[in-house]
Amino acid sequence: MVAQTQRDNQTWYRCEECGLLFDDRGDAKQHETNCDAEDPSYIQ
Ligand SMILES: [Zn+2]
Repeated sequence: MVAQTQRDNQTWYRCEECGLLFDDRGDAKQHETNCDAEDPSYIQ
């Protein structure tokens, strides 16, 4: 899912799957939909 975080007085949106940061929630959401990062707890 997408996590909202504050940095440098700006709101960022982080993909919790791979850690990528976005400054636009729409971009983060779209990335999340296409994110193919493996869930670490799912591998083992
Ligand atoms: Zn991702």
